[in-house]
Amino acid sequence: MDFSKLKLNSDGLLPVVTQDYSSNEVLMVAYMNKEAFNKTLETKKVHYFSRSRQCLWLKGETSGHYQELVSMALDCDNDTLLIKVKQNGVACHTGNYTCFYKDIDLESKDIIENNELQKKKENVFNIFEDVYNVILNRRDNPKEGSYTNYLFDKGIDKILKKVGEETAEVIIGAKNEGNEEVIYEISDLIYHLSVLMVEKDTSWEDICKELDSRR
Ligand code: AMP
Ligand code: ZN
Ligand code: ZN
Ligand code: ZN
Repeated sequence: MDFSKLKLNSDGLLPVVTQDYSSNEVLMVAYMNKEAFNKTLETKKVHYFSRSRQCLWLKGETSGHYQELVSMALDCDNDTLLIKVKQNGVACHTGNYTCFYKDIDLESKDIIENNELQKKKENVFNIFEDVYNVILNRRDNPKEGSYTNYLFDKGIDKILKKVGEETAEVIIGAKNEGNEEVIYEISDLIYHLSVLMVEKDTSWEDICKELDSRR
């Protein structure tokens, strides 16, 4: 990849859109010149070109909020770079996790500052994959006293029996007041469904594909 192949803007810079690699949240937009681009690839720490200071800018050099490069992509006409990073601390110098904390209300056209949004928005669905991977890992590297291994050892009929039981418990939990019990029982059910998924060689991707095709 040669930087001279890229189409630069009128300032001779390449606009960069920076995303959180795990949540895909857009963190900031900044610019790179050739030096920043090459330094970023070399060190895997993201460097930009600071338009205000007119110099190479290692993101995090004063704040400590470095960005570790995870991936890079170009758009169709090679004039914009999309990078995904592991963000240390926060991306914005205001202390917000992302620079895009100012919503514009579509009706009133007012700016609504969500300054309390200081923290990373976790992609809640990552937890499904995490749980799945722990179960997969248990199956492949059995651990003494593991309940998951107990289920695998007993086999699919035991797993199915548990799925049935937990389903009934979700129903009972939902009949009671508040949502405390139902949260607990749905978690139980999803765990046991995840064990079943591993047993049946089914990934969350398979499930999501099926759900997506129904939209
Ligand atoms: P840092 O690179 O995080 O050590 O910040 C150094 C300086 O770069 C800050 O004082 C800001 O002026 C500027 N800066 C940092 N983060 C951003 C950002 N996300 N967008 C624009 N300017 C920034
Ligand atoms: Zn473009
Ligand atoms: Zn900012
Ligand atoms: Zn239960």
